[in-house]
Amino acid sequence: MNCDVCKVREAEVFQPHTGRRLCKECFINDVRERVRQEAERQGLFKARKVLLAVSGGKDSYVLADALAEVLKGVKLIAYNITEGISGYNREEHVAKLEGFLRGRGIELLKGSFKSQVGYTLDEMVQASKVKGLNVSACTFCGGFRRKLINEVAREVGADFVATGHNLDDEVQTYVINFLRGDTSRLIREGEEPLRLSDYFVQRVKPLRRVYEWETTMYAYFKGYEFQEVECPYISQRPTLRAKVRELLYSLESKAPGALLRLLEEFDRLAGERKREMLKALPRHQLPRCRICGEPTSYGREICKNCELLLASGLTPKYASLVSR
Ligand code: SF4
Ligand code: ZN
Ligand code: ZN
Repeated sequence: MNCDVCKVREAEVFQPHTGRRLCKECFINDVRERVRQEAERQGLFKARKVLLAVSGGKDSYVLADALAEVLKGVKLIAYNITEGISGYNREEHVAKLEGFLRGRGIELLKGSFKSQVGYTLDEMVQASKVKGLNVSACTFCGGFRRKLINEVAREVGADFVATGHNLDDEVQTYVINFLRGDTSRLIREGEEPLRLSDYFVQRVKPLRRVYEWETTMYAYFKGYEFQEVECPYISQRPTLRAKVRELLYSLESKAPGALLRLLEEFDRLAGERKREMLKALPRHQLPRCRICGEPTSYGREICKNCELLLASGLTPKYASLVSR
């Protein structure tokens, strides 16, 4: 059967949300076109420099490939963090990622929790256990990753940080926040996250209208050798996300396109909520942590990351990646 778009090449993939059968080339072009539209919507064409936060998983390969194709005049730099998880972080994965990025003219900055925070994730987890704290590895991991990505983006003078979150990730996050009744989080997520501090570099998610199965297919068609090893701390991830993921899969299989429609609706609600909250928020910027200088929540003197380290009996030994 021939492709529904070019009518010439053989179709290799069925896209349920459009009802079309596509050949490899037209499928890749279709994904890139959605990334281009999203990049335009999020203002990336006006950027001089964009930092890509890349984990080495399939989505980061697709993100880098599609952005390199779409944002021809914009300087792209990538940043990868080695968390320090034994059996999970592998040098060969970073080397492969680096080679792939070099082929697209993108420099890779290689950072780690050990060199930039002073401790590996395993050391943080171990220290917190000794102190009897009930903190999951993912709490340390997510918090420090966000902090380091923001710091590095500032240091290299990036106008935006692009992450590889796909449509499934975005809708799951929206649903989780709604289920928790945490609507204030909406203003930090979504299409145009609100910047409550000049020290936050604007985050964008160019793959937010691309289904996860599509990033998998893209990576497969392109033959990427991405990292597939599972993190040993995966069981500590909140189980709610796995349940929401399952629920959304079954919804999507019964009503193809449901995730895209949900995203549109959530974006609209988030926009409304943001306008309401803007009126109620304090006029001044977020305070900055006395220890590390990163923005922290209103009313706090020390950020959550520094607080967690200190409670685990560890002294922060922060070091810059770029000026070393
Ligand atoms: Fe980090 Fe948790 Fe993901 Fe492992 S599963 S990489 S600890 S967030
Ligand atoms: Zn085609
Ligand atoms: Zn801090």
